[in-house]
Amino acid sequence: MPKCPKCGAEVAKSIKTWTLAPKGRKGVEIGLFKCPNGHYFRAKVA
Ligand SMILES: [Zn+2]
Repeated sequence: MPKCPKCGAEVAKSIKTWTLAPKGRKGVEIGLFKCPNGHYFRAKVA
């Protein structure tokens, strides 16, 4: 589960996700998360 880099809270649900796919590479799915303390951060979605 992604953790907020500022306060360490675990966030289960992403606000949105998108795929980051550099040319010639397999893409990774990135999610935008909001922690209970109001911080926004991006993390790779497993
Ligand atoms: Zn936080």
